[in-house]
Amino acid sequence: MRSTSPWIRYLTAAVTISFACVIATVLGAPEGVLTGISAASIAAGLVAALWGIRLYRPATAWPWMMAGCLLLAVVGSLLPPGVLANKAPSAADACFLGVSTGGALTLLLILRRRNPGRDLAGLIDAAVIAVSAGLLWWIYLIDPIVGGSGVSLTTRLVAAAYPLGDLLLAALGARLLLDTGHKSVAVYSLTGYLALTVVPDTISTLGTLSGSTTAHGLAATLWVISPLVVGLCCMHPSMRELDAPSAVPTPDMGTFRLTALALSSLLAPATLLVQYLRGAPLHVPLICATCGVLFLLVIGRLAGLVGDMRRMATTDGLTGLRTRRYFQDALAHAGHRDHAVILFDIDHFKRVNDTYGHDAGDRVLREVAARVSGTVRQQDVISRYGGEEFAVLLPHTSPPEAHVAAARIHAAVRATPIPVTATESITVTVSVGVACTPTDVTDSARLPLLADKLLYQAKEAGRDQVAIAA
Ligand code: GH3
Ligand code: MG
Ligand code: MG
Repeated sequence: MRSTSPWIRYLTAAVTISFACVIATVLGAPEGVLTGISAASIAAGLVAALWGIRLYRPATAWPWMMAGCLLLAVVGSLLPPGVLANKAPSAADACFLGVSTGGALTLLLILRRRNPGRDLAGLIDAAVIAVSAGLLWWIYLIDPIVGGSGVSLTTRLVAAAYPLGDLLLAALGARLLLDTGHKSVAVYSLTGYLALTVVPDTISTLGTLSGSTTAHGLAATLWVISPLVVGLCCMHPSMRELDAPSAVPTPDMGTFRLTALALSSLLAPATLLVQYLRGAPLHVPLICATCGVLFLLVIGRLAGLVGDMRRMATTDGLTGLRTRRYFQDALAHAGHRDHAVILFDIDHFKRVNDTYGHDAGDRVLREVAARVSGTVRQQDVISRYGGEEFAVLLPHTSPPEAHVAAARIHAAVRATPIPVTATESITVTVSVGVACTPTDVTDSARLPLLADKLLYQAKEAGRDQVAIAA
């Protein structure tokens, strides 16, 4: 609680400044007052970023990069305005575009550290949102700015760079929200800051393009609040873990993600309809291309999900071996000639759980699986058949070869004691049953049944042994 108190104090200050800004805007305060509040807000965000670095000492560069962006924003706000005030490009534009670029680089650094694996699924999800947003940005913001008249091409290109930077920030923000990393106050503050940058920029540009003046008042208020939210991110204790690597390799397809993806995918056809109803240019080639890219991204995502499902259905979560279902499919496809099935069960396994606990039992199961995996051939299918019972399918294997393989499995498990606690190890043994086609049974589907019977005989005969058909 004590560590969050500076954050709460800062939150109070941030809410007060935001409130002052809203009041000043509503009361129509002179330009100078609003400029003062805006400068105070950027300065507060900058101080908070530096304060957060001092408080939490994160061993990472992103808070410094964020502070650098705010400093650049302070400089930009002190310089004579450029294209944002409908004037020729100025040094202020260079500063503000530098803030966008620096913000994007900061986010890229954070995202790279949070997602050290491949997380292709998260990338595809963010790409779906970025492509859909890109279409809207192009049709309603960038194209009208670049195609405008009355000002020089340089001015139009500089003006178009603002929404382009916002699009980049929005895409990176979507990636941050949809990655598998931990969602903390720092993450939500950072995405809040991005929203409070991108939304007012967009409102202001749309206002300029449509000749509306009220849009600028609303945008100006949101602009004042945005640097304060950077401070909220840097001042919260969770800022230390903002770029901590995610332990989850693949994102969960939750309601939020599905809704975001569904709405994004519908944006392109919805845009076409809106343009048609407005009697505005339809941009048919662009919308078709966007839909094509979206379809491919969705199909790619679907292929990944099907692959994940298949892996889950055929791989045992604890041991990494094949599942019983996979084993049965492999046996059904193996045909009826020259196969063997080895079934083995850990002796007195219940005692391991009862004496050392369930986690120790799991450890033993994993170690047995690893040892046995080391003794079989590549073409053999080794599966976890039940709780502490395993089955191996040996294709094209003669009975003598199968008996040797069973003896190897039996010996490998009991070879050296298995650690069950930090200090204790126990010798684990297995009882094994071996059945072969066509010598023991003619129908390979009956192999597990016979192997199970022989396994039971091995248990009856005193455990820790291999039983073969007489
Ligand atoms: P036997 O020599 O006759 O095979 O005796 P046993 O104690 O090994 O056999 P029993 O069937 O009585 O007990 C099997 C135990 O395996 C019971 C169950 O709690 C445990 N078990 C099953 N699956 C798991 C698992 O995934 N993890 C752990 N830790 N225990 C499991
Ligand atoms: Mg057992
Ligand atoms: Mg058993």
